[in-house]
Amino acid sequence: MKCDYLIVGAGFAGSVLAERIASQLNKKVIIVEKRKHIAGNAYDEYDEYGILVHRYGPHIFHTNSKEVFDYLSQFTEWIPYEHKVLAKIGDEYYPIPINRITLNKLYNLDLKTDEEVAAFYEKVRERRYPIKNSEDIIVNQVGLDLFEKFFRHYTKKQWNLEPRELSPSVCGRIPVRTNDDCRYFTDKYQFMPKEGYTKIFEKMLSHKNIEIVLNTDYKKVVNEIKYDKMIYTGPIDYFFDYKYGRLSYRSINFIYKNFKVESYQPVSVVNYVEPGTDFTRVTEYKKITSQDSDFTTVSFEYSVKDGDPYYPIITDSNMELFKKYNQEANKIDNLILCGRLAEFKYYDMHHVIARSLKIFELLSKNLI
Ligand code: FAD
Ligand code: UDP
Repeated sequence: MKCDYLIVGAGFAGSVLAERIASQLNKKVIIVEKRKHIAGNAYDEYDEYGILVHRYGPHIFHTNSKEVFDYLSQFTEWIPYEHKVLAKIGDEYYPIPINRITLNKLYNLDLKTDEEVAAFYEKVRERRYPIKNSEDIIVNQVGLDLFEKFFRHYTKKQWNLEPRELSPSVCGRIPVRTNDDCRYFTDKYQFMPKEGYTKIFEKMLSHKNIEIVLNTDYKKVVNEIKYDKMIYTGPIDYFFDYKYGRLSYRSINFIYKNFKVESYQPVSVVNYVEPGTDFTRVTEYKKITSQDSDFTTVSFEYSVKDGDPYYPIITDSNMELFKKYNQEANKIDNLILCGRLAEFKYYDMHHVIARSLKIFELLSKNLI
């Protein structure tokens, strides 16, 4: 087999680059994907009850980038959706990110303005400087009690690490609010693809210059394919046969259950922030996709050590090891790394799309 670009992985990184290279540069692309489907972790499909479910957990599209939004809009229509998450403590539900409503309900207060809430945080926060980890970044904003209630146990369940062992960028993804905005994200563009994510990928990849080989680890076929450049979107340590050691990732066991009820829980995602349950969150898919049905399908997420790598674990030691691999990768002329696993970054979809468009710009100008 012969192509201009061999792309490993058919997630957003691999597929955006394949689409751009095929349609804009008129170059031949072969994508090798080890799973039986395209779309990477954004893969969705209808289950036996007719509910569109995300097979790798809830994927909510949000971005502030007009470029990313316009790019993806070529391949899908959108339905409006603003993501809301509640944290469950005892039998009660509280808005997360923590906001004015959370505080009033939790502490039986009557804070009315942003200023009153800011004064409350000021009273309870514990000054931490410098901010070295995920405990510091939360405690520095909201103090120990809120940290314990909303972050400590969820984080331990998700990462099997204490927040103080993780980079501040992990818990720092979650803002702290003084207003009563209950949305999980405040980005300018927040939508769901009308026909789901997989359809986006089908449209992106249906081009005469793109060939897709599924169910195949690239290492099995790489010697049989002649290519000018490789774009690799899988785990970087696997690329180098773990020669400096393994990077650590978290995987998740998704347990899907269907109930013959119209609604299972008050919002699409409930975070179980207490230690008593082994799962981290429960997602009710029809609430994300605005589907009407007498049935509902939910997924429970159990975070585990082994399995497909889903989350790069951002600790100092992993970042050091990643740097070593990355330096090695930089020495290989015809290799481009892109995506959450290859760049070992806690990217959301919009980050990966933006990054892929940037890489395309550079390679189309022969700068990489
Ligand atoms: P991936 O989608 O992982 O694609 C990489 C592909 O490479 C995979 O299909 C893999 O099978 C393939 N591959 C790996 N190794 C090989 C090999 N050796 N040979 C052949 N193929 C290989 N982002 C959001 O924006 N919003 C969300 O709400 C959101 N929720 C998420 C929830 C969960 C549970 C997870 C895990 C992620 C979530 N994300 C979310 C992040 C999102 O999934 C990623 O940013 C995005 O999918 C990354 O795209 P990618 O192409 O880099 O990687
Ligand atoms: N987090 C938490 N409690 C919550 C929500 C998030 O402790 O209710 C922490 C936890 O460590 C989590 C991280 O913040 O892994 C990032 O949360 P996010 O919802 O962005 O995780 P993702 O959707 O990527 O799984």
